[in-house]
Amino acid sequence: MLGSKAAVKASNDYHVQTYVRPEFVIARGEGMTIYDDEGHAYTDWVAGIAVNALGYGDPGVAAAITEQVNTGVLHTSNLYHTEPQSRLAQTLVEKSFADRVFFSNSGAEANEGALKFARRVAYDSGNHDKTGVVTFSEAFHGRTLAALSMTPKEKYQKPFKPLMDQVTVGEFNNVESAKACINDNTVAVILEPIQGEGGINVATDEFMVAVRQLCDQHKAILIYDEIQCGMGRTGTLWAYEQTPVAPDIMTIAKPLAAGLPIGAILCTETIAEHIHPGDHGSTFAGGPVVTRVADYVVGRISQPEFLEHVTEVGTYLMERLEEINSPHIVEIRGKGLMVGMQLNVPAAPIIQAGYEHGLLLVNAGTETVRFIPPLIAEKADVDALIEKLVSILESINV
Ligand SMILES: *Cc1c(COP(=O)(O)O)cnc(C)c1O
Repeated sequence: MLGSKAAVKASNDYHVQTYVRPEFVIARGEGMTIYDDEGHAYTDWVAGIAVNALGYGDPGVAAAITEQVNTGVLHTSNLYHTEPQSRLAQTLVEKSFADRVFFSNSGAEANEGALKFARRVAYDSGNHDKTGVVTFSEAFHGRTLAALSMTPKEKYQKPFKPLMDQVTVGEFNNVESAKACINDNTVAVILEPIQGEGGINVATDEFMVAVRQLCDQHKAILIYDEIQCGMGRTGTLWAYEQTPVAPDIMTIAKPLAAGLPIGAILCTETIAEHIHPGDHGSTFAGGPVVTRVADYVVGRISQPEFLEHVTEVGTYLMERLEEINSPHIVEIRGKGLMVGMQLNVPAAPIIQAGYEHGLLLVNAGTETVRFIPPLIAEKADVDALIEKLVSILESINV
């Protein structure tokens, strides 16, 4: 076994250097806490970027994995039916606006597929100029080329051009801007009901309704990217449930299988009737292990008591953050357990100091600390967080 120093060195020596990481090595976890291989504990306010919704060591997740492993079947490809995959599709349809589901392996892949679905519908309409895509400022839709094209961030896009063309960037939460961008040549509009990476920005109802109406008016397909804000994070199973509108397609991923890789495209029958054998596919997607786990996870998270807990602890987190008296805090915003603390200083030193205080924290943009913990976080975890944050913020008070 590599000791921590050797594991960090091997990572630095052998990985393509796309990630900046702290100098400890994660060894195990329990509930809200992970431990490094030297036994230091860290309370996790990141959850593997909103993925580990049930925390660490959930017995139901372990049981679902074990049951499937014990069948001997880890993979079948999509050439064959499996019971866990069919059951998960049914569960997702029963618990959302959607009529049908397509599984993918990741968030970016779900967004790529959603865009293909939209193009397929436009193709059948006979209007082959209907190829424009509208995305919004500060959006994040993934790292693959089409998803990157819809992620309007100079630093991410510039070295990889040319990207997909005909992408227009509207201003998030600006109805006039949406009106100016969406027209008869728009095939799809993609929108996060609450932006994650972009800084925890909540779309207003007014904006959501206006975009929905513009899409109807111009026969554009409305895609909600709920990869980060979906699956109970905001206190309802889907973030859109707290708005007056619903999409035509919704992409989900991060917490769906509580840590195993999966994504999904949920859509209406009106979309699905245009997608035929051969139009899209994946070797691994929706395998029996991940889908068995995901069905368990959706069952747990969609329980009313579970969602009420998220709302209660999330509200408490926002209240306690509001109470912190620091000249560096500009705004607290978010919903449920998806909360941003906007600073007037860089977030990086606070995240760094968090490690020394036994906290895992993450930024969203350069000056926002983002709280996206396991959804099992308790008020006592919030209290412990606030105590540590206060002392971290005081240490940067000059
Ligand atoms: C993380 C994320 C993605 C990309 O998901 P990957 O699984 O990393 O490809 C897309 N959209 C949103 C809103 C995300 O938070």
